[in-house]
Amino acid sequence: MRLTPARLAMCLAVVPVLALAGTGPEFSRHFLPKTLRVDYYHTGCRGQEFFALDQLVEQPVWAGSRTNLIDTLNLGKYLVKVFDLATNELIYSRGFCSIFGEWETTEEAREGICRTFHESALIPFPRRPIQFVIAKRMEGRYSGSAFRDVFWATIDPSAGNVRADRPSYPFAVKKIRGDGDPSRKVDLLILGDGYTEQELPKFRKDVSRFLNDLFGISPFKEHASDFNVWTVEVVSRESGIDEPDRGIWRQNALGCTYNAFGTARYVLTFENKTVRDIASLAPYDQLYILVNSERYGGGGIFNLYSICYAGSERRGEEWWADYVFVHEFGHAFGGLGDEYYASSVSYLDFYPKGTEPWEPNLTVLLDPAKLKWRDLMEPGVPVPTPWEKAKYDSLAALRASLAARPGSNPDSLARIEAAMNGLLRAQRFWGKVGAYEGAGYASSGVYRPFLDCRMFSKSLTDFCPVCQRALARVIRFYAE
Ligand SMILES: [Zn+2]
Repeated sequence: MRLTPARLAMCLAVVPVLALAGTGPEFSRHFLPKTLRVDYYHTGCRGQEFFALDQLVEQPVWAGSRTNLIDTLNLGKYLVKVFDLATNELIYSRGFCSIFGEWETTEEAREGICRTFHESALIPFPRRPIQFVIAKRMEGRYSGSAFRDVFWATIDPSAGNVRADRPSYPFAVKKIRGDGDPSRKVDLLILGDGYTEQELPKFRKDVSRFLNDLFGISPFKEHASDFNVWTVEVVSRESGIDEPDRGIWRQNALGCTYNAFGTARYVLTFENKTVRDIASLAPYDQLYILVNSERYGGGGIFNLYSICYAGSERRGEEWWADYVFVHEFGHAFGGLGDEYYASSVSYLDFYPKGTEPWEPNLTVLLDPAKLKWRDLMEPGVPVPTPWEKAKYDSLAALRASLAARPGSNPDSLARIEAAMNGLLRAQRFWGKVGAYEGAGYASSGVYRPFLDCRMFSKSLTDFCPVCQRALARVIRFYAE
């Protein structure tokens, strides 16, 4: 359309109003360009949940967006909200998940064991007193978008109780990629755990190998310039991390351990305060912990951290670590759910019946007409979308029984995996977005959008179109 002078004048008059309407709270009016870390304890006891403030910490840089202060992504089991105390205006919010949120779905929690976890919320540093609120997503609500407030505290940043000392760790901090202002980039900070001083060259090599994997896959490939990557070269006293199921305990700096919640390959650290203190040496939106171990494992919790075992360059298992690295980042960065289901995990009914998961790549199909990725589907693809699930499941069962046998032949395992892959590719709706039953640790009742995806099969396959779009949205949210 050609702009006549009259139209041009109209646009000029309208644009500033629209721009104001789209921006939400103004950063500089409410915040200083640094971070306030709110540390608290999160305790659970048979369906009850308690929060208690621990400490307030000032960190020198605000790495998050200064434009997108209000979270519009609707991801995560919890939501931190910040209100200006005087006006009650919502000036910041961010969705997140926590170790507590996973723990409360375990057998141990259901049996009535009580536990406490240390957590942190990072918010821009407020100029004036605020009301700090944590809200939790309510189960049993369609679309899962209803939250209820579960914790609130009044915080006065000038009350003299904000710790402003800098932690003094002798670790090298490096910016290894990107050159933009942290508030306009996704700042990915990679920490090593279980690397001794002598193993730091290995840490550097591991980081560069994994970054090649991450920026070699869509949508990170196309958005590589939206990222800054930082490392803190954390030195551990001993090489490797804890392996409680094998009776192995090590002096590793960040406390990472296998066998989290009784799942051998699940790696987490419960030493949040140590991790946060060390991480505060660099600006970050996302934390990634590389553990110096040959043993398969990892973990990823939305807006908390990703963890991946480093493997080694020349071992046959190398590519599993390359798969894990990107897969876990899908959880922690994009809030993506696991699309696989034929696997042993310790969660009970992770996706309760009657509640639509908030994860952008899972659905329980309460209302097929409103399927959240409907706009990515071609006409003529039925919902649910048929596939040879029984055949796939019998191959998966065969693979599992073979893998459980001591000394099983890797070639036979590889043959079965190839057959499973081949079966997926032979499906009538291969390559089409649909709603395929079997996802989110549940063989029935939960559906995934694509036959294969980095969140589904243990392979180097791409993210499916639905996951790619979800990840790209998050990248834009940080980079605007
Ligand atoms: Zn996917």
